[in-house]
Amino acid sequence: MNQFRPAERVTRIRPSGIRAVQIEAERLERQGIKIYNFSIGRPDFDTPEHIKAAAKAALDAGRVHYTHNAGIVELRQAIAQKLSAENGLIVDPEQGVLVTAGSCEAVCLAVLGYVNPGDEVLIPTPAWTNYVAATLLAGGVPVEVPARREDGFLPDPDVLRRRVTGRTRLLILNSPNNPTGVVYPEPLLRKIAEVAEHSGLLVLSDEIYERLLCGDTPHLPFARLPGMGERTLLINGLSKTFSMTGWRIGYLAGPPNLVQPLVRIHQNLVASACSFVQWGAAEAIGGPSDCVSLMVAEYRLRRDLVWETLSAVPGIRLVRPQGAFYAFPGWERSDLSAEEMAQRLLRETHVAVVPGTVFGPGGEGHVRLSYCCATADVKEGVARMAAFFERL
Ligand code: PMP
Repeated sequence: MNQFRPAERVTRIRPSGIRAVQIEAERLERQGIKIYNFSIGRPDFDTPEHIKAAAKAALDAGRVHYTHNAGIVELRQAIAQKLSAENGLIVDPEQGVLVTAGSCEAVCLAVLGYVNPGDEVLIPTPAWTNYVAATLLAGGVPVEVPARREDGFLPDPDVLRRRVTGRTRLLILNSPNNPTGVVYPEPLLRKIAEVAEHSGLLVLSDEIYERLLCGDTPHLPFARLPGMGERTLLINGLSKTFSMTGWRIGYLAGPPNLVQPLVRIHQNLVASACSFVQWGAAEAIGGPSDCVSLMVAEYRLRRDLVWETLSAVPGIRLVRPQGAFYAFPGWERSDLSAEEMAQRLLRETHVAVVPGTVFGPGGEGHVRLSYCCATADVKEGVARMAAFFERL
């Protein structure tokens, strides 16, 4: 069956290490075992009612057809208004916004649209897995910029500068960050912007966790920095903020000359995002936002539980998460690899976490916890982890 071997680009990417843990956790659950599941970044809340109502109404009104490739104009206008009011960014709703089937698609579009085979993509790591996968799919070369725990998981702008070569095309940023939960402070973003300007880099800024903040560091949209608007493609989505992971809706925004070429790939991949879902999304973005504040308040509580419990364990090193809903603890008293630690935690304590190495080699000696499961599970799960670490 050799003639049916998948294309070479497929063999370059590995199956998701995050999903692998989730699948194993679900297998154990089916055996009746209670799992404290910190594996995937899937908020446990239901989508707020007013958003569901808008999608249902759209369905009932027969909004079941293809939409404009870039998305319904009502949603693009809501996005442009939100970007202006909340983020201080002026974006053209006609040409500068592209609604995608989740921000996973947005990441792929941007990378496929701007990276030629052999081009280098700078990625501060540990990083969400899809940036490397999209780069490899495009035939590009992921170039890691290590963000070390000793530096609070923040990349060093001087190292970033040194990693730029004649082949560097793109820099991918993600703050608030998956998997570390850190938020890049303004002075760092300014230094990164200087490197981008000096080296003529295009920047993909994935700000999907912008509203999920639980510390003192505010979120600063990268495109707001001097000179960055013209070279930044902003990615955002509704999955995390509004607990809409299953709706598959995200967007790209930026200067029309950067966004429009990506519509051509999108046309061929999905044509347009799901029609009635887009009406729900317009309501989410334009409607009342107290639902978000309630969810954020709950994430703060959970973050505090994770922080207070794990940071008190001798030998555990944890950078205090400031945003998203992730924590990335490391250990010093054991030689267990990240993979072994995740396996033993699952087998011996029924706590599911993701090995840090899934997010790049710098994640060795760490695991990622997504604390977006029920608060009672967060409490019990981290207590089990703490007891396990203390026994090591
Ligand atoms: N960006 C980051 C940083 C993420 O963590 C995720 C989901 N894990 C996404 C984008 C994709 O989210 P979605 O496709 O559901 O919008």
